[in-house]
Amino acid sequence: MCFMHALLRECRKGTLPREIEPIARNEGMDSNHLASALIRGVVSLPLNPRHSCRPCAIGERCRVKVNVNIGTSAPRCDHQLELEKANAAIVNGADTLMDLSTAGDIPALRKRILSLGVPVGTVPLYEAVRRAGSAIDVDPDLLFRVIREHCQDGVDFLTLHCGVNQAAFDALKVDPRLMGVVSRGGAFHLARMAQTGEENPLFKEFSYLLEILEEYEVVISLGDGMRPGSIHDAGRLAKTTEYLTIGRLSKVCHEKGIQRLIEGPGHIPLSQIGYNVRMIKELTDHAPLYLLGPVVTDISPGYDHVVAAIGSTIACMYGADFLCMVSPSEHLALPLVEDIVEGTRVTKIAAHIGDTVRKGHVWQEARELPVVLARKDLDWEGQFANALFGDHARKIHERDGITDTCSMCGDLCALKLVKEIFEKKEEKQ
Ligand code: SF4
Repeated sequence: MCFMHALLRECRKGTLPREIEPIARNEGMDSNHLASALIRGVVSLPLNPRHSCRPCAIGERCRVKVNVNIGTSAPRCDHQLELEKANAAIVNGADTLMDLSTAGDIPALRKRILSLGVPVGTVPLYEAVRRAGSAIDVDPDLLFRVIREHCQDGVDFLTLHCGVNQAAFDALKVDPRLMGVVSRGGAFHLARMAQTGEENPLFKEFSYLLEILEEYEVVISLGDGMRPGSIHDAGRLAKTTEYLTIGRLSKVCHEKGIQRLIEGPGHIPLSQIGYNVRMIKELTDHAPLYLLGPVVTDISPGYDHVVAAIGSTIACMYGADFLCMVSPSEHLALPLVEDIVEGTRVTKIAAHIGDTVRKGHVWQEARELPVVLARKDLDWEGQFANALFGDHARKIHERDGITDTCSMCGDLCALKLVKEIFEKKEEKQ
């Protein structure tokens, strides 16, 4: 694989590097179209040249991708558990992983996660806070040093909350929110800004930050540090102020040839999803949207993976490109392996439904019809083979014994009855 920036340079010169072809084919897309989308910045390809992994194109007309967050915390710091979670995520369809570790030997775990063969993202600020001892003690030098180290280790995309600046802080003060700030990165930056009165270094030194990302060919994920933490807070000023900044920064990235993802929008009511997705897309020249949530109700802890799947399915209709897995543990605890399995599967279903909209009728039929036809024929093996998670379907079907129908209607199976009617009719003819 040639390096991403070299690849982009070739595309801009009008020559089509041969590495584009398999990536385009994997997306069911023409190579010229993918090259054009990369040049326009509506598709990003996180691929650090120091990291050996399968390419993952994210953005316009690509399949909707799924990221799974893993990582240690102080109350539960177990590297082996995090690796098990990472592997469970990949087996169940995660396209990328993010290591959000905040405890233990963070660089050592990152290196092991980087060996798993999928693109990896991180939030360098978390490690900087752990090293400094507190958010207010993270000086800019330390933060940029940690960012550089993550790039050198081979991390493919970095979440950087550059839009959490003094303007967003002011917006939060004049238009307060019930939940304040719920983004960990956003809260860390605000804590330091409040204490020192200084600007967020990632905003102030944005040009320097881009120099580092360019040197290491790493994708920036413009973090949504002001995302609302309850649907009640969705319409407040802080979020919109941050998006206006992110829109400007996104343009700078594109002008300098730095690939970017845009994160958002957090907790918002279902009725505001279309408006939010369109606004973010327009402000950022249709950069790939990395969806956080949307969590569309706040009263279902334990089932927030379902809530987010409902929100993200709608968001995909309006152009969201990349879903961040929400697990049943969201808002409650650090996820365990079974939470990762359940959350990843439910998020994959949302991504698939998104694909049925964005990839069109032919793609939809090719993916959906085999299950429908197998179901019609009571062909259970055909159903399991073509279902998204056939192993789970089989377990449920076979728990009351293996029969030609299922235990719902048994001998009164409607499908069997109608099948027999048509078979008899055919015999007579
Ligand atoms: S038994 Fe009922 S639920 Fe089961 S396949 Fe037949 S019609 Fe469907």
